Amino acid sequence: MPTSTGLNSRTIRVGIILPEDNSQEISLSWPPDLIVASSQDFDDQLNEITIRVDQGKLSVSLGELTVFVDHFLLASGDHLSGLSAERGVKIDSVVAGRGFHWEKKIQPILPGRLLFSVENNSLLLINELSVEAYVACVATSEMGASAPDALLAAQTIVARCWALASVERKHVALNFDVCNDDCCQRYQGTTYLTDYALASAVATQNEVLVYNNKVIDARYSKCCGGIVEDYTTVWQGKKVPYLIPLWDGPNHPEEMAFDDLKPLLAYSEAYCSSARFKEVDLLAMLGKVDVTGSYYRWKHALKKQVILDNLKKHFKVLWSEIFEIIVLKRGASGRISHLRLAGVNQESDQVTFDLKNEYDIRRTFNESFLYSSAFIIENATTLEDDTTVYLSGAGWGHGVGLCQIGALGMALEGSSYSEILSHYYPDTALMKLAEDTF
Ligand SMILES: [Zn+2]
Ligand SMILES: [Zn+2]
Repeated sequence: MPTSTGLNSRTIRVGIILPEDNSQEISLSWPPDLIVASSQDFDDQLNEITIRVDQGKLSVSLGELTVFVDHFLLASGDHLSGLSAERGVKIDSVVAGRGFHWEKKIQPILPGRLLFSVENNSLLLINELSVEAYVACVATSEMGASAPDALLAAQTIVARCWALASVERKHVALNFDVCNDDCCQRYQGTTYLTDYALASAVATQNEVLVYNNKVIDARYSKCCGGIVEDYTTVWQGKKVPYLIPLWDGPNHPEEMAFDDLKPLLAYSEAYCSSARFKEVDLLAMLGKVDVTGSYYRWKHALKKQVILDNLKKHFKVLWSEIFEIIVLKRGASGRISHLRLAGVNQESDQVTFDLKNEYDIRRTFNESFLYSSAFIIENATTLEDDTTVYLSGAGWGHGVGLCQIGALGMALEGSSYSEILSHYYPDTALMKLAEDTF
């Protein structure tokens, strides 16, 4: 039986500048020796272009010449063998970390085809490139320059599976497969590409994990916190047989249970435990860690007012007070998937409001976004009189599938990439896709 993927091509379309970014003007530039093709003829010497949105069209400045068009294309090579660091077209302003407190502007260098158009009166840029080139770039964006071989290979294969399985499809309305950000997978073109990451992509080329003859939907997150979470705690839908609760450590201590967060908070043997990385330069191995601090175990204090403000902002719920927070459901890792707030509304009535997924919980319990929904409320019993809520938590991200910090822990202990992958995705098999498999 042939292996199937969800993506109906071996090229992928990555949304780089989205209508929600409300970008009206960008500049592009490239090295003089890079061969660039375009939908508009221009002088060979030109290596800078400015594109503006002008009355629903693109105004493209090509040296002396300005053209008004609906679409504009610029293309350079994207074959894996020709890929190298900082080769491609540089875009002067792209949003990274959309909607998060670390949102910033970056200047990525992109290989492959760049398709510009206007959507809702702002710029849309889609980068179309081969899946293999995309995967090499993603693995570099997710990992640091000194990541151990096994970790890099595991991340490369996971990024490839996730892209090929194409299950999430968050951006079909705008006609691209994935965006450039953490919403999908972080992609910054060849900007930080290292020879080392490229070698890993070449060495594992076309290698994927399969389950029932299908490329798996390889979810991953930064740090599970000690127990890998079940798919259904985080997402709607049926159980996924290879995205199940797992003990993320060498052995499962007998006295400890799944979904019991309090004793788990004292556990320090996990592959992702910060106790393992005291002598390790985590930044060099895992790349740009977005926030400082500890993510295996963390503490967070927030004013009740922050929760009240978020209820208004995200759910249009107008309350004057919160007096109780009730945890209704936790997943295996301790992540809360259903939580009830009890408070007082503007009419002075006592009311409740339910947060029914980890995403809503994380955006309600922080000024921007909480590390994870695996937390206990330290002052639950005195909450009625307190103005601050004190949280003790575990992990960073949704916790399903591969735990990036745990995979680093395994790699540092000498595990191979196939051992790492079979730990996080049980009952799956590694295989090489034929070149012509879609
Ligand atoms: Zn996305
Ligand atoms: Zn972990």
